[in-house]
Amino acid sequence: MNAEVLKNYINGKWVESVTERTRDVINPATGEIIAKTPMSTKEETLQAIEVAKTAFWRWRTTPAQSRIRYLYDFRESLEENFDELAKVLTLEHGKTIDESRGEYRRTIENIETATTIPTLQMGYNIEDVAAGIDEMVIKQPLGVFFCVAPFNFPAMVPSWFWPYAIATGNTYILKPSDQCPLSMVKQFEILDEIGIPKGVVNLVHGGAEAVNTLIESPDTIGLSFVGSTKVGKLLYRKCGEYGKRVQVQGGAKNFITVMPDANLERTIPNLITSFYGNAGQRCLAGGVLLAVGDIYDSLKESLLEAARKITVGEGLDEGIQMGPLASKAGMESVLKYIQNGIEEEAELILDGRNVTVNEKFSKGFFIGPTIFDKVEPSMSIAQKEIFGPVIPIIHVKDLDEAINIIHDNPYGNASSIFTSSGKTAREYQYRVNVGNIGINIGVAAPISTFPFSGMKDSFKGDLHGQGKNAVDFFTEEKVVITRWF
Ligand code: NAD
Repeated sequence: MNAEVLKNYINGKWVESVTERTRDVINPATGEIIAKTPMSTKEETLQAIEVAKTAFWRWRTTPAQSRIRYLYDFRESLEENFDELAKVLTLEHGKTIDESRGEYRRTIENIETATTIPTLQMGYNIEDVAAGIDEMVIKQPLGVFFCVAPFNFPAMVPSWFWPYAIATGNTYILKPSDQCPLSMVKQFEILDEIGIPKGVVNLVHGGAEAVNTLIESPDTIGLSFVGSTKVGKLLYRKCGEYGKRVQVQGGAKNFITVMPDANLERTIPNLITSFYGNAGQRCLAGGVLLAVGDIYDSLKESLLEAARKITVGEGLDEGIQMGPLASKAGMESVLKYIQNGIEEEAELILDGRNVTVNEKFSKGFFIGPTIFDKVEPSMSIAQKEIFGPVIPIIHVKDLDEAINIIHDNPYGNASSIFTSSGKTAREYQYRVNVGNIGINIGVAAPISTFPFSGMKDSFKGDLHGQGKNAVDFFTEEKVVITRWF
């Protein structure tokens, strides 16, 4: 693949950015530069906003049933190009080809849910609120919405938003991850091929300049942000200042509790997927393992045995179970956390540094499965989002101690419990203050008809991505009160 500078997609055309500033898109398995992301300027971003604003009224007055036909066509085309799309995703991100296929299945699921908009967007009404007077709510689209997306699920995360936004009658601007923009370029090529009307969806590459322009413009309505809590909080404040609707899905530190009565054999594969899937770069990844009571020794031994068997290498190789970290900076950050863990005197019982991979990939950003034992809640590896394949184990005496540790952490994205007691599971879902709870589930990822929840520092706003929440975010409830003389 040539390292071409990617183009923006504005008003139904692929246009070169005028900027000289670019960011390299790197295949993390090889270290090779495979494309360059332009850092679009304020003027280019304003152009995209103008185009989306102009396209709004015609699109908004297009019947919902006609709007969703484009999503049906898009879905068909994703299926037809499935293998190629999964391959591009692995090349730009590093995840295994199976993980890429899984990501595209979830993307397609969201497109499918958005095609039910003629039902989801229905309002409600009641007759005779007073004699001869009826009242109803209609859910109307508002204008131009935009998304700022992260690198870790670069193909799927935008699908939590844009399909719902356009199906409800809004127009859209996507600012994909500047680190992994290729998957969305591919998806926009498909949107172009299926003939989606000009200006309804637009793609603007870039960074802070483009994002600030989108927020500051009087012609945009709202932002869906997914990324780190640090950037999310910054943009949340800015959206408040400029009067924008906003949903911010931020970072995470997810605690996984294993009770003494857990079915260990069934639990281990779930833990492996939770901590090591996507090389730990998931906002729903296990972040700390809380081993409760006397399951601690057997849990640790079984986990070690399973982790040692994981094959690490280039994601396109079907036999590989874990790919590289998605960037050099990401790898260096994980290595720093491992060093912190050592200095804080946790016990490194499985060391993924210097993992061996096929020689062809010696320049890749690989770290193998890593496990720390004897971790204390105050250590940085127990508190911060590592975003890599590291399991810190904390031995706790009971459920109360586990829940206190979870509540001391500022994040609140997800948490899982493994137990065979319904009573304990219920207590967990009742008390634990996070947005997505898993009961004997390693990765508590909601399907597209449910909100992708999150609390505390993992979410800012009121309405989440996906399903009915997305419909409410992208529409206003207008009340009509009627009397006929
Ligand atoms: P990031 O915050 O670095 O970047 C996210 C997006 O923000 C990118 O498009 C980037 O270009 C843009 N951006 C960065 N700095 C900016 C600035 N100063 N002003 C405006 N825009 C800016 O996040 P990332 O590293 O791409 O993604 C990883 C993070 O995303 C992790 O913390 C992960 O937990 C989180 N995440 C959360 C969820 C969720 O649903 N809660 C899902 C996926 C990922």
